[in-house]
Amino acid sequence: MTLRSKTVLGIALIEITVLMILVFSAMSFLSDSNEKQLIQRANSSATMFAHAAKDAVLSTDLATLDDLVNEFMTLEDVAYVRVLRNEKDMACAGDKDLLARAMSSDSSLGSVDDGIFDLRTPIENGGLPYAYVDIGFETGPINAMLAQAQKAIIGIATVEVVLVAIVSFVLGTYLTRGLTRLTSAVNTVGLSGPGFQLQDHSKDELGEVTKAFDDMSAKLEKDYQTLTAAREGAEQACDSKSRFLASMSHEIRTPMNGVLGILNILEETKLTREQQKLVSTATESGHFLLSVINDILDFTRMESNTLILEHKPFDFRHCVESVVDSFSPAATNQNLILHCYIEGSVPSKVNGDENRVKQVLLNLIGNAIKFTHEGSVTIKVCANTFEENKAKIKFEIQDTGIGISQNAIDYLFDEFTMVDQTYSRSKEGSGLGLAICRRLCNLMDGEVSVVSEPDIGSTFIFDISLEVTDELIASPVTNTRRELINKDARILVAEDNRANQLVIREMFKRVGSQIDIAENGLEALEMVKQYQYDLVFMDISMPQMDGMTACRAIRDLDDDTTANIPIIALTAHSLAGDKEKFLASGMDDYLSKPLRLSQLVDKINLFLDKAPDEEVDQELQPSPLNKQEVTYKTKVIPVETQYEDAAQLELVDEQVIKQMIEDTSAEVIPILIDHYIEESQDRLRKIYQAIDDSDKDVLEFEAHTLGSSALALGNRTLSNLARKIEHLCLDNKQSDAFELKDELKHIAISSLEALEVRKQQGFSEPTEL
Ligand code: ADP
Repeated sequence: MTLRSKTVLGIALIEITVLMILVFSAMSFLSDSNEKQLIQRANSSATMFAHAAKDAVLSTDLATLDDLVNEFMTLEDVAYVRVLRNEKDMACAGDKDLLARAMSSDSSLGSVDDGIFDLRTPIENGGLPYAYVDIGFETGPINAMLAQAQKAIIGIATVEVVLVAIVSFVLGTYLTRGLTRLTSAVNTVGLSGPGFQLQDHSKDELGEVTKAFDDMSAKLEKDYQTLTAAREGAEQACDSKSRFLASMSHEIRTPMNGVLGILNILEETKLTREQQKLVSTATESGHFLLSVINDILDFTRMESNTLILEHKPFDFRHCVESVVDSFSPAATNQNLILHCYIEGSVPSKVNGDENRVKQVLLNLIGNAIKFTHEGSVTIKVCANTFEENKAKIKFEIQDTGIGISQNAIDYLFDEFTMVDQTYSRSKEGSGLGLAICRRLCNLMDGEVSVVSEPDIGSTFIFDISLEVTDELIASPVTNTRRELINKDARILVAEDNRANQLVIREMFKRVGSQIDIAENGLEALEMVKQYQYDLVFMDISMPQMDGMTACRAIRDLDDDTTANIPIIALTAHSLAGDKEKFLASGMDDYLSKPLRLSQLVDKINLFLDKAPDEEVDQELQPSPLNKQEVTYKTKVIPVETQYEDAAQLELVDEQVIKQMIEDTSAEVIPILIDHYIEESQDRLRKIYQAIDDSDKDVLEFEAHTLGSSALALGNRTLSNLARKIEHLCLDNKQSDAFELKDELKHIAISSLEALEVRKQQGFSEPTEL
């Protein structure tokens, strides 16, 4: 309700109430005074008549009485008059009906019910009533006069109410017009900025308010202009700072790349151990400097809103796995366990900026590893909401590191923030990483946050939105084939599994080298004694003699050269503490299965391309950063999947098949598939038996082996489920693992069938990229 309506209504209500009180009191006053007047008149008329008629009554002079009665009737409002003695009329006049009624005296107008005020007055003789005079007065005229008065008063009151309403309406309109103008002026200032003037020159209070408004608006306009000028100046300064930073970063990056390239070439030349150390430190520092420069460049681009995200199809799951994989060496060096769980609902084919997704992950996982001394770093990925063709993907990076205090969390994502200066100083960083992560997440319609407790660990959570696509991703197989430096080196591989033997033999063929194969540890020992090998790859679990026993036996040999031969463990079981066990048995290093040609070659190059004086020193050394690839000591990198919709998952990952062809050859794949299917069926039988026997340890072991062999041939879904079962066993949730038997059966049958079908389609060598 408007202020004007409220004013009009309020005033009218007060007016009506007051007028009603006035009308009621006036009416009751009028009626009281008329009643009094009537009673007084009736009494005095009756008394006068009694007095005038007394002599005629006493002398029974009826003729005089009649005259008196008739004369009395001429008085106004007299309805009847009667003189009676001993209940008998002596004289009477007036309405016959009224005279015929039984007489009852009225004391007030209230007791009148027939329109006549009746009064009986005695005519006394000697102090005693001798006769009576009855008189009746009509009350009708008084009532008519009262009704007329009431009408007149109500009429006057109504006119007054209307008049007051009109006046208050006009007054309200005048007052609210001023307020309405003020309101629209405030809105104009809100919309178009200060400066608007009302210019109301009236001398009343409203005039003063509008003048105050005009003054304020003028002052604000002046301040606003000053602020705008200051902001423009600051923006210009910031722009030139950003341009300066961008061009400086660019200028530094170019020669820096040159320096790093030269260091790389220098690294390839014959260097002493000391020189090698210096070169690797210089490379490490160079890489760090480059990463800081890249951060600054990214940041300046984001500040000036010139960073534009790409929108290209890429394999999202592969992208996450490759980032996690790249941290394996660093995690191994720090004795950390690296876990990665990717839920089944996470899509593979998406549209977006792969490099920026990687950048956020690299930063957060890198920080988690950097700030964790012991324990684990776990990466969980799930997709929780799908809107049309958009997936909201949520990441959690959890570590058991130094943690972050609560008050530092508030400014953690600000630029150039390093929480613990002393600790952070010992760990390189620009303090820009998290600020960039936050901006990148925002650019991908997401948020990043952290939950942390000092000395317990931190969990960084972020989400991004990506478009799900059906488009086939033409991402090339990573061509990581490397040159074997010493093709003539004599290499022995001890491996009992036929499929693995075939894979390794084919891999060596690919790089132009031959190997000898021993079927078990005992055979390996015999062959090492017989021939002069340069390097031995030793499987761990083998019949007759396992890899560690064989290694110990080799180290105990009398011939020094043979006893010191480099031995590298090949294992599908690389859990916490395994590295120590391998080293304790005399191994020099280890490689995780499934094997990749690039890793195999890097390992051989690492051990066989050494200056002669260094060959004796085969202790496992902490690897410099730039040698991440050559010191690949993975602990555990399982990828777990939740089977919400198995149909949407890949039964055979074509990417893996392509990689396997790249690492071995197209002809060998069908044979490998046959071996794998045969071996997997055997393994699955063991797994089902272990579930029936509730044997957690056997289940964990077999599930792990199945997980790695299934992954090697692209049965990714099966591999993920096997990993899930293995992890449930490791977390002592074996009853949950046992419940997955039916699901495993179903997935295993369809995965092996799908691989068989794929085999029928044939394989071909990839065209050179
Ligand atoms: P930097 O390049 O220095 O790592 P970031 O922005 O990535 O810069 O991180 C800022 C600071 O946040 C780090 O210096 C560190 O103090 C803290 N921080 C980041 N991640 C972690 C973590 N996982 N655990 C403990 N502290 C962390």
